Amino acid sequence: MNRNPLVQSLRCAACSGLISAAGEFLYTCPHCGPAGTLETLYDYEGLAEAWLRVQASGERGLRRYASWLPIQSADSLPPLLVGDTPLTRVPRLSQALGLPNLWIKEDQRNPTGSFKDRASAAVIAAARDRSIGLITAASTGNAASSLAGLGASVGLRTVIFVPASAPEAKVIQLLVYGAEVLLVNGTYDDAFELSLEATRQFGWFNRNTGYNPFTLEGKKTVSLEIFEQLPHLDAVFVSVGDGCIIGGIGKGFQDLYRAGLIDRLPRLYGVQADGSSVLSKAHRRGYLEADPGACTYADSICVGEPRVAHQALQVVKESGGQFLTVSDDEIRSSQLQLARLTGIFAEPAGATSVAGLNKALQAGFIGPEDRIVSVVTGHGLKDLRGAISAVQTKAVQIGRQPSQLADQLRLAGIV
Ligand SMILES: [Zn+2]
Repeated sequence: MNRNPLVQSLRCAACSGLISAAGEFLYTCPHCGPAGTLETLYDYEGLAEAWLRVQASGERGLRRYASWLPIQSADSLPPLLVGDTPLTRVPRLSQALGLPNLWIKEDQRNPTGSFKDRASAAVIAAARDRSIGLITAASTGNAASSLAGLGASVGLRTVIFVPASAPEAKVIQLLVYGAEVLLVNGTYDDAFELSLEATRQFGWFNRNTGYNPFTLEGKKTVSLEIFEQLPHLDAVFVSVGDGCIIGGIGKGFQDLYRAGLIDRLPRLYGVQADGSSVLSKAHRRGYLEADPGACTYADSICVGEPRVAHQALQVVKESGGQFLTVSDDEIRSSQLQLARLTGIFAEPAGATSVAGLNKALQAGFIGPEDRIVSVVTGHGLKDLRGAISAVQTKAVQIGRQPSQLADQLRLAGIV
């Protein structure tokens, strides 16, 4: 069911087959199964015309881009402000890295603290357009808490499959929002399979990243915003697990290009953890091999079987960008570097894009002349254990007597 007349068809990322968007709702390509992620294609002349209305609308967040999404109208979206996050200049980090033209896209400022709100908002709009009352999802944390929070704002029931290893704060966030939570004694990939099984058995609407084509469309809105905030840029850095965020960012810039609003694509740099680098390896080797032992402390990008592999690899290649990998220690350093030089507290996966900047500089992929955006995808308060493992310093314990204050500060080396 297609509610936006500008939507023309769906294209499978695996076999490139075109499917009509007018039929029943499809998650993935009927020929390729779960690997056949579907890309929504539009009437691009129509999108170009709609862009003029976007600019004149005065709407904020995803509501602003409703005509560029496969939804009925802006009113299908949840009422919370999703998107419209700041693109922030970071002079101290710029100076430290030797990159004078660096901006941070602060997507940790979304309502539930992560980039995933963009995808959840689009999926919830799809559900509301179809009068669906229950959505299920599997998630390492952020997609689920996002679905639960935005779902609560419109009275949708949410049933969430989470790997038992998910950070406590993310699970608590789900319960606070009133989601029904199933802790899976297994990996994210196991949780993903169970949620698909629930969709098969009970017909529940499934929000899974990449599996539901609305997730890519929601995520592309960050590129539309970046384009409005900074019309000319050379490179975008983002952390990569499943491949859905970078796939969505790539889709956004490709839609802008197809609509004739930009004349070249910015280079996309996907940054993975050394211990969870299936897509990076695939980019280098030319073939994809799942890694059931994927492991990194940056839980949001710990994925052994990326669900949006084809799109992620394709958008990076077409943009002339690269995949980079960084160690967990490099991510920890970047989490502190970002916080201490910009005031932005990112969760480990959110700081991974910054770790990638260091690596790309060393490799000569970027230089001081480049205009670069690094996307922070999640808030640091979501994973306190991750932050604790990065911080080497300890708070200084002191007594409560004012007469001893000066001595104690001297002892601590503060004065
Ligand atoms: Zn296919």
